[in-house]
Amino acid sequence: MSDLLNVENLCVRFEVKRGGMFGKKSYLHAVDDISFAVKKGETLAIVGESGSGKTTAALAVARLVNAWRGKVELDGRDILPLDGAELRRARRRVQFIFQDPYSSLNPRQRAEAIVKEPLDSLSDKPEAEKAEIVARLFKAVGLRPEQQRLFPHQFSGGQRQRIGIARALATQPELIICDEPVSALDVAVQAQILNLLRRLQKEFGLTYLFISHDLGVVQHMSDSIAVMYMGKVVEHADRISLFSNPLHPYTAALLSAVPSVDKARREATKRILIPGDPPDPMNPPKGCRFATRCPLAEARCRETPPALREVASGHRVACHLVPDPA
Ligand code: SF4
Repeated sequence: MSDLLNVENLCVRFEVKRGGMFGKKSYLHAVDDISFAVKKGETLAIVGESGSGKTTAALAVARLVNAWRGKVELDGRDILPLDGAELRRARRRVQFIFQDPYSSLNPRQRAEAIVKEPLDSLSDKPEAEKAEIVARLFKAVGLRPEQQRLFPHQFSGGQRQRIGIARALATQPELIICDEPVSALDVAVQAQILNLLRRLQKEFGLTYLFISHDLGVVQHMSDSIAVMYMGKVVEHADRISLFSNPLHPYTAALLSAVPSVDKARREATKRILIPGDPPDPMNPPKGCRFATRCPLAEARCRETPPALREVASGHRVACHLVPDPA
């Protein structure tokens, strides 16, 4: 299967002024030179703590924040330089499911108007056809026809997220970016929404970029995983390799916190605690960004940033201690 999405050397930075109006201008590099690809019909999960840059990277892919540098190719065409009609066409192909189903829906709009909104802004279809699409989508996400006329407050959290999913599907996108789509929901409802996303992926041939801090959720949803720390991808592998053989100390610590249903594995896995907080993002460490918290850090880690390199087929890691393949 070929790549639908190919991200190369993506950088996003935000201007920050310190010391009031006349303060010195500097930049926060929220996403710092990251690259990854997602095959058609597959799911790449991007995981990391809050502040790791995962959501900013996703927003840049969807053109909802401006990238400073890099490429975001959809089917081989870079969408970052596009504007006007070409950008509208690209936006139809890439849609976003937001984290919070409570705040991401306009409380004054009926559910049917919310789902129709992307069609109004991005397509020129006649109203009758839009109404048919909305009705079909309500059914596809498990909502009843009579619920189309209701307002968001008349739905439960899980139902609101179904509306958000229907809205994301309205323009028949190929790539959907799911930004922590279940983190605001109860555990029982989380499973229903994840199952729905998987069913829709098969039904519509969707490709997902799945943003999450929850590796338990990611284990059930992803084909491959990129782990981010302070704006950098520190490890990237297929799901089985990453879960069975995490190579970066940060990934190993994240995975050690995932509860396992397997008793033997649970007993064999010792929880690795990551001490302290991430450093000031305005002033990242000179060498490896994880060096201030890494239990294995050596002198060279504090001096030289490790490059992200392939150490096994499709398994990339940025750590000085991981040897090159023999
Ligand atoms: Fe830890 Fe050094 Fe590897 Fe960074 S390069 S993760 S500090 S061992």
